[in-house]
Amino acid sequence: MYRERGNHIITQVTEHKAVLDTCKRLEKYGYRVTYLPVKADGLIDLEDLRRAMDDKTILVSIMAANNEIGVLQPIREIGKLCHEKNVIFHTDAVQAVGKVPVNVMTDNIDVLSLSGHKIYGPKGVGALYVRRRNPRVQIAAQIDGGGHERGMRSGTLNVPGIVGLGKACAIAFDEMDSEAAYLRGLRDGLKTRLESELDYVHVNGSMEHRLPGNLNMSFVYVEGESLLMGINDVAVSSGSACTSATLEPSYVLKALGLGDDVAHSSIRFGLGRFNTQAEVDYVGAKVIDIVKKLRELSPLYEMVREGIDLTKIVWAAH
Ligand SMILES: *Cc1c(COP(=O)(O)O)cnc(C)c1O
Repeated sequence: MYRERGNHIITQVTEHKAVLDTCKRLEKYGYRVTYLPVKADGLIDLEDLRRAMDDKTILVSIMAANNEIGVLQPIREIGKLCHEKNVIFHTDAVQAVGKVPVNVMTDNIDVLSLSGHKIYGPKGVGALYVRRRNPRVQIAAQIDGGGHERGMRSGTLNVPGIVGLGKACAIAFDEMDSEAAYLRGLRDGLKTRLESELDYVHVNGSMEHRLPGNLNMSFVYVEGESLLMGINDVAVSSGSACTSATLEPSYVLKALGLGDDVAHSSIRFGLGRFNTQAEVDYVGAKVIDIVKKLRELSPLYEMVREGIDLTKIVWAAH
């Protein structure tokens, strides 16, 4: 809709594929896309964003919360900067809505997307918030044919899905504060336990700016897939569900500066509304046990324990 005004879009490297693949497609159509880097804590630098904007910039798309590391981007400040520069701000808030406060007015959001199944609602339904004034945002039709939804997305509405999404939002809104406190307690307990009983473990991404139910940790000198096999009765993941079909290390973790080996040794624990302390205790014990076992088999871990500096080793093939 804004093609006349410019062809430059700004996003960042740890976005979900839903945004990155869309940007890749737009590049084929002649758009110029800037992919901002993130700092070691997973947050973008607002100065980088300011510098990236030019008079052809029409859209900034930065996620509110990351799906792998749970990091919360400074969306209020990003939105403020966009409004100063007359650029539309979209945020992928799929992970943030219902988990942490998000307010399109105070957070200066122009367009926001959310998804039903990430907030205990039905699959196959989501919503796009589109600001109507200050500024008025216009959207080109996604689907033509009948003019439903103000012409933006024609087709008969999925009423059960819509009702389910609405109900899920209402429940999430009512329970958000108590649920966040509960999940933060479970998550921090798990983190403390893993850190106190294992060495060479660290958290990926900012702990301060983070979803309450997310913990992403590296267990150095352990291969992530072996760790996953060892706890295969627990639903954790080594990358995002959307890319775990590949054996590539997570591009999100690599963007934080992790090497392939450490990225491969990382696990995402996602805690949710229906998890209990007993389940978290079970997972903690199991992870500690399997990490210790795998490290007994790891020559690298042995060498580190003996005080050998792995970075100084010259590996030779014979
Ligand atoms: C899951 C997810 C999506 C995709 O939503 P679907 O409804 O599953 O297609 C997009 N962005 C983020 C951050 C997500 O976590």
